[in-house]
Amino acid sequence: MDPSTSKIQWPGGKAFAFTVFDDPDFQSLDRGVPVYEFLSDLGFRTTKGVWPGVEGSPPSDRWGTCLDPEYLKWALSLQERGFEIGWHGASPKTSPREKTAEGFETFRRMFGHWPATLSQHYACKENMYWGDNRLSSAPLRLAYNVLTRWKNHDAFHGHVPGHPNYWGDLSKKYVKYARDFVFAEINTLEACSQMPYHDPARPEVNYWYAASEGHNVKSFTRMLREENQDKLEAEGGACIMYAHFAYGFATGGVVDARFRSLMERLSRKNGWFVPVATLLDHIVEQRGAVTVGAGERSALERRWLMHKIRYGTT
Ligand SMILES: [Zn+2]
Repeated sequence: MDPSTSKIQWPGGKAFAFTVFDDPDFQSLDRGVPVYEFLSDLGFRTTKGVWPGVEGSPPSDRWGTCLDPEYLKWALSLQERGFEIGWHGASPKTSPREKTAEGFETFRRMFGHWPATLSQHYACKENMYWGDNRLSSAPLRLAYNVLTRWKNHDAFHGHVPGHPNYWGDLSKKYVKYARDFVFAEINTLEACSQMPYHDPARPEVNYWYAASEGHNVKSFTRMLREENQDKLEAEGGACIMYAHFAYGFATGGVVDARFRSLMERLSRKNGWFVPVATLLDHIVEQRGAVTVGAGERSALERRWLMHKIRYGTT
């Protein structure tokens, strides 16, 4: 089936779908709790990434991870309320294979299941198909490497069997959905109609999903401005925002005013506000799994690289 022509019907007569994958960087409780209380009250159920943490690591690497009992308690309370807890790596620092494996076991012990959804932390060298390996063709890789001053050239090895940081087989076994490209488009499903898709050239990831640009409160509220909300609704699309809720969404316990008014407006629409994995599972149920060919993948890569050149983010 051609995914670009098959319109998704959302459950319960909902007109569109909206969710967020929240990257946990710098997310202290005083920054995170007010944002989630606000989202929860409005009826949003999104996905919060976590690091389970690695026992015995220095305190600086355990900060903001689930090894902090208060943080874990909070993450569990969100899961109880229907938020999804996703994977952001074993810890904020690079983990060799055995630490990643330990992290998965810790995650399951803490949350009672394997993580269904992941996004990779920019600094972790165990990332899979990351850096210039996000791109398939030599000219695109060259353009990317020049843009990033070659710092991500052959830097990530999570997908390379035999490398000390390899964990691709664990990803394949435990995780269903991994994030790759981010676009400056409110309707993520329009920007990446194949989502979620399998890429045979990157076999250790079961399915990839894309996201819409919203890494801090400024870019998030720009993306979610009124006309874009109306566009998403009119198109009956799906939006998966990529965000760091620690980046300006709540200061001193107070939720940012513009973010507040936009989310309140969105919550009054007839949207399906479910976690990332629930949303993606529904798309797969509706039209089956998509496998992308090299040509389709190249088109996505080219568009993403243009986005990166323009916006400079992930
Ligand atoms: Zn991160």
